[in-house]
Amino acid sequence: MIKSNPKSFLIIVQEFLKALKQKRTYAVFKNGYSVFGILWGVPVPIVTIGIDLYSSGLSPTLNNIIEIILSHPFHFFFLLHPLFFGIVFGAMGTVRYNKEQKIKEFEESLMRKNIELKESYKKLKELDELKSSFLSMVSHELRTPLTTIQGYITFLLTEKPGTLNEAQREYLKTSEEETGLLNHLIEELLDLSKIEKGEFKVNLESVDISEVITKAIAALQLSADSQGVIMENNLPQDLPLVWADKERIFQAVTNLLENAIKFNRNGGRVNISSFEHPENKKITFCICDTGIGIKEDELDKIFDRFYQAEPLGKRKFRGCGLGLAITKSILELHKGRIWVESKVGIGSKFFFELNRY
Ligand code: ADP
Repeated sequence: MIKSNPKSFLIIVQEFLKALKQKRTYAVFKNGYSVFGILWGVPVPIVTIGIDLYSSGLSPTLNNIIEIILSHPFHFFFLLHPLFFGIVFGAMGTVRYNKEQKIKEFEESLMRKNIELKESYKKLKELDELKSSFLSMVSHELRTPLTTIQGYITFLLTEKPGTLNEAQREYLKTSEEETGLLNHLIEELLDLSKIEKGEFKVNLESVDISEVITKAIAALQLSADSQGVIMENNLPQDLPLVWADKERIFQAVTNLLENAIKFNRNGGRVNISSFEHPENKKITFCICDTGIGIKEDELDKIFDRFYQAEPLGKRKFRGCGLGLAITKSILELHKGRIWVESKVGIGSKFFFELNRY
């Protein structure tokens, strides 16, 4: 709707003046508005001449009418009214026609854009599907030789094929750690391709979450010790059972703990606590660290696939930015949720919520 302000009034006047120059305004057979204007104007001279005839006591004959018109020149002005109204209404009709044409053109361009968008979306979807199957194929192909390499490293470390000297043992240990990381990355890529294909499923049952978290802490104790990070389990003894997939929730907690250790500092802390919400049968868990923290404008992006809060060139942390995206999917499949609060240089608090059994 046009607001009535001096600017919009000026626009209306400009459009009207433009319409006065257009042929359509005067095309009686094309523009119904001008016919309407002419008909609207016809009664004006009839009434004015009629009044004049009546007041002069003359009968409405052709001679009397001509005489009246000639005796009062303003009747010429009234006689021009049908023409005048025809032009004014005709111009209004043209303004409306111009507007309708513009709307039509706009609608057509919208429809064209819509078709283009649909085509681009289809192409993108095809490319995305191609990328997903490529991802899953490559990950599977990488996993087989990697399992063989890991098997040989483990076998060599048993010293059954021959005794190892200190340096050889050290090299093999490093290779074992690196292949472990590679394996973790491949597992994450496979999970991602499952999520994208909608094949990532959970099997919900009653789970002792306290046991799962304690297991995850134990699994990461060595890594925390080696980085000088202290882990504190502040979960209450009597934590109720939750609806969960034991393995998937272990994976989610491990991802969060790994990050809390990885993005921490020497002498830093990781604290795990929980709050119960009796009113909606939900439990919130909090994994709180004293690490590097995350900038505010990146808080909602870190749950996106492959997003890493730090510029790639400056990165000193390992990983490929999939852990949180997978963790979020796991929690969504549990009808739970995950969110984060953080302060740069002070630390981060990752919260996740699960339903009580
Ligand atoms: P990755 O750890 O493999 O890079 P994630 O998906 O687990 O991938 O995390 C994405 C990004 O979020 C990380 O690269 C890091 O920048 C940021 N991040 C996650 N957890 C923390 C944390 N506890 N403290 C600071 N930054 C974090």
